[in-house]
Amino acid sequence: MSAPPASPLKIGVDVPWVTAWSEELMTGFGPCPSVDGAIAVAQIDKPGVGKPQYARNHVFRQRKSVREMLCPMCGKPTANGDRWSQTGHWTTAGEVRARNMGVWLPGDFPDRRPLFDAGGIAPLHRACAERSLALCPFLHDLPDQELKAFPDAWIIATLAVEARQRPGIANVPKAPIVAISFLQLIGVPDYAG
Ligand SMILES: [Zn+2]
Repeated sequence: MSAPPASPLKIGVDVPWVTAWSEELMTGFGPCPSVDGAIAVAQIDKPGVGKPQYARNHVFRQRKSVREMLCPMCGKPTANGDRWSQTGHWTTAGEVRARNMGVWLPGDFPDRRPLFDAGGIAPLHRACAERSLALCPFLHDLPDQELKAFPDAWIIATLAVEARQRPGIANVPKAPIVAISFLQLIGVPDYAG
């Protein structure tokens, strides 16, 4: 079987940098530098080969984009004052706690404190956000087309999956372990109380 040819689509222009490609298969789990060596889900790294899977993010690039504030479109760092989100929304500490994500919030955040839920999508450069909006049918169909400025401070939460290990000697099952899949991002604006 010959390898699929490199795609003519250009990453960062036609296809977001964070998007997974069809040749990027999941390979299991192991220590990952994107989360300081914690156990995380692993995936082959072959961006640009095969077909882009627009509805799916590559696990390693997704975690790296959130940890290092890399723009999901171009993969380059974003800076304070140029971080924009179209898919995120304003929420409160109380709503985050109600969704059982409160473990990630400092206990002294009052429930009414506003927070910005970016989900699993790190903020983009303004220019990249505008280009995505022009190109992506999913974004174009969202009722909320407003680009929201992402706060200059944030909290990172982890989503994890239970990963089954292969049976060891004598087929004795090993205990399942927990592996980080994607990271979630919560923006924290200044709050006067
Ligand atoms: Zn960008």
